Amino acid sequence: MKYSIAIDGPAGAGKSTVAKIAAKRLGIPYLDTGAMYRALAVACKRHDVDVNDWDAVRAYLPKMQMEVRYTDTGEQHMFSDGEDVTPFLRTEEISQGASLVSMVPEVRDRLTELQREVAHSRAVIMDGRDICTNVLSDTPHKFFITASAEERANRRYKQLTEQGQPAEYETILADIVQRDKQDSERAYMPLVCKDDTILIDTTALSIEQAVEALLSEVHE
Ligand code: C5P
Repeated sequence: MKYSIAIDGPAGAGKSTVAKIAAKRLGIPYLDTGAMYRALAVACKRHDVDVNDWDAVRAYLPKMQMEVRYTDTGEQHMFSDGEDVTPFLRTEEISQGASLVSMVPEVRDRLTELQREVAHSRAVIMDGRDICTNVLSDTPHKFFITASAEERANRRYKQLTEQGQPAEYETILADIVQRDKQDSERAYMPLVCKDDTILIDTTALSIEQAVEALLSEVHE
């Protein structure tokens, strides 16, 4: 495997599920870059940094201590100030916080640097919002994985109810639509699908079909 694989797409489209399976089959590491923006949102919360205040976020950046580590079984864990914050990344508050800090250009530049370090000496599979257009723009393997907002909200609703967590479909859909808007309309490095990127719409696809669609393109 010579080249890295870049995947972009909106929240809840199945990017990370597809990427994890593809990474295992190809025997290369997977980096979830959204987890990095989320870890920063957790750090801001803990340090009382207002994620709506760009200057406050900028002032915090030099103090940020973020680390990506992998377990023996290849699971990615996020460390902030030396603590494993992985269990705290997946709340609605942190999803919104991540989307807000990700608008700050200096945040994007810093996290892009860290992401490129991971891909520096080996092929990886990475997913996020600016991987094809920025972080790994040199790779020939670029994918945009998407699904309708309603289908993405449905999947999230099912996932939460299966875990026995409270969930309301309308609220989930509204959060997804708002995050899509923030991610694709921000001024610096917005989420876009360019002509050189292969689109995979998973609305009517199973996970296995989406993985196959990606891997068949990579093997070609
Ligand atoms: O992928 P995930 O939903 O976990 O990402 C959380 C948020 O982090 C996104 O809504 C987006 O605003 C931001 N993000 C980004 N660029 C990336 C990955 C995530 O802006 N490469």
